[in-house]
Amino acid sequence: MNIFLNDRLVPEDEATVSVYDHGFLYGDGIYETMRSYRGVVFMIERHLDRLCRSALFIGLNIPEKSEIKRAVSLTLKQNNLSESYVRITVSRGKGAIGIDPDLCKAVTFVVITEPFRKYPDELYAEGARLILAKTRRNSTTAVDPRIKSLNFLNNILAKIEAKESDAHEAIMLNSEGFIAEGTVSNIFFVKNGILFTPSVKVGILDGITREIVISSARDHGMRVEEGEYRPDDLLKASEVFFTNTSAEIMPVSKVENVNFGIGEITSLLHTLYQDEVQKYIDEHSGYQP
Ligand code: PMP
Repeated sequence: MNIFLNDRLVPEDEATVSVYDHGFLYGDGIYETMRSYRGVVFMIERHLDRLCRSALFIGLNIPEKSEIKRAVSLTLKQNNLSESYVRITVSRGKGAIGIDPDLCKAVTFVVITEPFRKYPDELYAEGARLILAKTRRNSTTAVDPRIKSLNFLNNILAKIEAKESDAHEAIMLNSEGFIAEGTVSNIFFVKNGILFTPSVKVGILDGITREIVISSARDHGMRVEEGEYRPDDLLKASEVFFTNTSAEIMPVSKVENVNFGIGEITSLLHTLYQDEVQKYIDEHSGYQP
């Protein structure tokens, strides 16, 4: 694979970054992950808007959106990828040891693309197993979860808990005990035909998949509520699922020791999501069915 590093494409082996890079030393930087279908990056504008928001929150000057888009499409073309995973990373850059961001003169900008590795079909058919993590999600007044930061240890600690329990994902609560989000996903549940998901106020990354699911559910006449929910609210639900760019919508079969069936609403929302993807890709590739 070729990697876009700062201003050009280089072979993977040559795509190296300094040990003095503040992304490496302090997790000082931001990233985005995206997915391409038939060579078109789904919702790239929204991902770039979120990258710019993360940059603003941490006072980082990043390349222009047009430059980033150019780098992404060059990298995809060079690697001959159609169905892929795309990651943009921007770190504070190389600087002397010390946390002062002004020690770094130029950001490090990287685009990595990889062939897309789908979650196994059995997982969609059978549902994922989740735990409630003991690790709490960062407070919005500490490292706001809306910053997609290279400093991912908060979520990694919860992921370790999930792995220790042989679970696929961990649900993190905020410091007040309200459900926040998964380690790499947003959480939804269905009760009495109503779709519930934690509100952004709780302290979550406002996932792009989450936004699409909310609006397509509403367009379909479904009631959607965003609020503050306790684990007990979720454990009494009839359906649970999580969302992210890679998995799209993943049904959940178990949270701790409570079982859930793979529900009709989850399946319907996944179909609606995939329709949105097809529509977007068709519109952006000039493809006519
Ligand atoms: N929350 C966290 C912490 C994440 O890392 C992700 C993955 N980007 C999400 C939610 C889901 O966001 P999206 O739907 O934009 O992929």
